[in-house]
Amino acid sequence: MIQLANIDRLKQHLQTFSKFTATPNEGMTRYSYSPEDLKTRKYIKVQMEAYGLTVREDGLGNVFGKLEGTLTDAPSVLVGSHFDSVPHGGNFDGVAGVIAGLEVAALFHEQGIKPAYPLEIIAMIEEEGSRFGGGLMGSRGINGLIAEEDFQEIRDKNGNSVVEVMEQAGLDPTLPIHRDPKTMKAFLELHIEQGPVLEEENMTIGVVDKIVGLTQLEVMIEGRAGHAGTTPMDRRSDALITAANIVSKLPKLAKDEANGTVMTTGKFNVYPNGANVIPDKVIFTIDLRSGEEASIKRVLEKVKELIASEQKNGIKTSIQQKLYVQPKALSHEVYALLKNSTEKLGIPHISMQSGAGHDAMVFSDYTEAGMIFIPSKDGISHSPDEWSDVNHLAQGVDILFETAKQLTMDD
Ligand SMILES: [Zn+2]
Repeated sequence: MIQLANIDRLKQHLQTFSKFTATPNEGMTRYSYSPEDLKTRKYIKVQMEAYGLTVREDGLGNVFGKLEGTLTDAPSVLVGSHFDSVPHGGNFDGVAGVIAGLEVAALFHEQGIKPAYPLEIIAMIEEEGSRFGGGLMGSRGINGLIAEEDFQEIRDKNGNSVVEVMEQAGLDPTLPIHRDPKTMKAFLELHIEQGPVLEEENMTIGVVDKIVGLTQLEVMIEGRAGHAGTTPMDRRSDALITAANIVSKLPKLAKDEANGTVMTTGKFNVYPNGANVIPDKVIFTIDLRSGEEASIKRVLEKVKELIASEQKNGIKTSIQQKLYVQPKALSHEVYALLKNSTEKLGIPHISMQSGAGHDAMVFSDYTEAGMIFIPSKDGISHSPDEWSDVNHLAQGVDILFETAKQLTMDD
């Protein structure tokens, strides 16, 4: 088997990206529009230019590098992923896919390939939602799923809007105009698996056929503050006790539903957060996922009932649904192309579902979207210990390159 992707170049990219973190030696922290984001986007643009791509940035800060095709007004084959991270995350989530896109462009460039359809490498912002919540903001913005009023109103935890933060960073914020689906022929994304399956099965590639659906809730519990020493136990409206009670019952709701349903509370803020004050407010998140939409809906109803049932003894509860994404089958056509390329290259692979939401899922409503996974060591992700083998990444690149060549050929 001939290796097409250049391992040294991939290593160089990985090393460079890993330096652009706000928390050196404590994992990757790269929030959208932060100084680390600005350094990363600069590096991406320099690489794109070196591979002969025409670079542009949209008003959300997504970066595009385009290799024109010979056909006029033909739709692009997009390849890419996101370059933001969670706090103290790893060096591979999102970045592996951005680097894979860059390497596909490098191979087109080196081999002097003149595609019929344009090849567009894409690096997106704010997939994780670590700064503005919700997630998938880059791909949602491209595809017209962010309303102007939300664009003005979405704020980070310091109360700054996207517009303000972008302006402070010297970027030029305008909500992108909904990209005409006719300008896209396909979207390809490589991502790390973020789970243990490929490694356990000793497989190099997972060809994704379906992405689980998810919903994210922000729950607010309001009670009454009081002195920890002078307020009798039966006179309290303790927001933290109520919140803890709710959160402790969530795992059972997910387990009872089965169908691979999972539920997580990852954020939990207590106010005023003083050792001798009864908490009067708690805000926490619930992330609920399943491959079956009916399961999401059923569990969501149970969660709402559970929270409403705590509305007593001076406790007020409210729920905001921050995100709802249906489970999705990806493009059958692109799936088949990816699978064929993988087989042709003789790379060990399986078909699998994705348990995480990805930009490909957003694109799948507007174009033919396909995804491949490479193994994550010990299944670990969103952690400084996240690690993937550069050889697996290289094989993933080869598959994307083969597939992108076919998709950009005149048909
Ligand atoms: Zn990701």
